[in-house]
Amino acid sequence: MSLLVIGSLALDTIETPFGKAERTLGGSATFISTSASYFTNNVRLVGIVGYDFPQEEINFLKSKNIDISGLEISETKKTFHWHGKYDFDLNTRESIVTELNVFETFNPLISDKFKDSEYVCLGNLHPAIQKKVVEQMSNPKLIMCDTMNFWIEGAKDDLLNILKLVNLLVINDSEARELSKEYNLVSAAKKIMKMGPQIIIIKKGEHGAVLFMNDLIFSAPAFPLEKVFDPTGAGDTFAGGLMGWLTKTNDLSEKNLKLAVIYGSAMASLAVEKFSLDGIRNLNYPQIMNRFSEFKKLTHFDEVSLI
Ligand code: AMP
Repeated sequence: MSLLVIGSLALDTIETPFGKAERTLGGSATFISTSASYFTNNVRLVGIVGYDFPQEEINFLKSKNIDISGLEISETKKTFHWHGKYDFDLNTRESIVTELNVFETFNPLISDKFKDSEYVCLGNLHPAIQKKVVEQMSNPKLIMCDTMNFWIEGAKDDLLNILKLVNLLVINDSEARELSKEYNLVSAAKKIMKMGPQIIIIKKGEHGAVLFMNDLIFSAPAFPLEKVFDPTGAGDTFAGGLMGWLTKTNDLSEKNLKLAVIYGSAMASLAVEKFSLDGIRNLNYPQIMNRFSEFKKLTHFDEVSLI
C-alpha cells in the first residue's frame, strides 16, 4: 500500500521556556512523512518549498526513502515560515508569525504515479488546497485530514467542504470545540461526524487522544514523560505514525485503528523529547517498539470481579 502526504514544509522559529531555534526544519508534511517512513517505504510527498530551503534537508527526506518527486521548488518565493511561542506549561502556544510565501499560489498537481495511492494524509494546510488534492485521487481507501484554528477562523466554508470528502479527521481538543461549538468532547465528536468524517480522533496534548468510530470510544494516554522539550509537530508526528501503521497493515477494523492510535502516540512521545524534528530524525525500530511496549504496560490491567 502507499501513502500520499500533503502539507506544509516549513522553516520554523520556535520559542519554548527551554530555548529558541531559528529557521529550523518544520511543517506538517515534514513531520508526517518522516514519522510514517518508519512504517512504510512507500511514502509519497506532495508540497512546495522556496529557494531558501536547505538542500541538506531535501537529502534528509530522501534518506528516509520518501518519494519527493512531488516536491516543487520555487525559484522566486520563500519557504513557508511559522513562528510559534509556547507558554511555560507547553500546552498553550501562540502563532506569532505565519508567512504563507510559496503557499499563496500553490496549486498541487498530483502525478499519475501518485494518483493511485490507497491512503491519503491531508496535513494542516489551506482546506481549499486539501480539496484540490482529493479531487485528483483515483480511488483512495482512506483519507485523513488535519486542520487548525487558523483555518477554522479564516477559511471555515472551505473547511466544511473538505470535511464532506474525508473519512478521518484528526483535530485537537480546543479546535474540536471551536469547530463544533460544543464544550463537551463526546458531543463535539458526534457533531463533527455529521459534517462528514466517519472517524474522529481528538488530541488532548499531554492528556492523550480519543478515538471515536461507530459506537466505539477508545482513549489512549499520552506517554508520561518527565522531560518534554518541544511539542512542535507532536500532532503531525501522531498522524504520521497512525497513517503509517494503517498503510502498512491495510486493515481498517476498530481493533487495528486502536493500534494505529497507540503507534501515533508512541511516535509523538518520541518527537517531543527533542527540539523540532530532532526527536524522530534518526530512530531505530527497538526504540519505537520499546515505547509501544511501555504504552501497553501503562494501560494494561486484568479484569477481576468485585463479587
Ligand atoms: P503541530 O505542532 O503538530 O500542530 O505542527 C506544527 C507545524 O505546523 C510547524 O512545524 C509549522 O510549520 C506548521 N504550521 C503552523 N501553522 C501552519 C499553517 N497555518 N498551515 C500549515 N502548517 C502550519
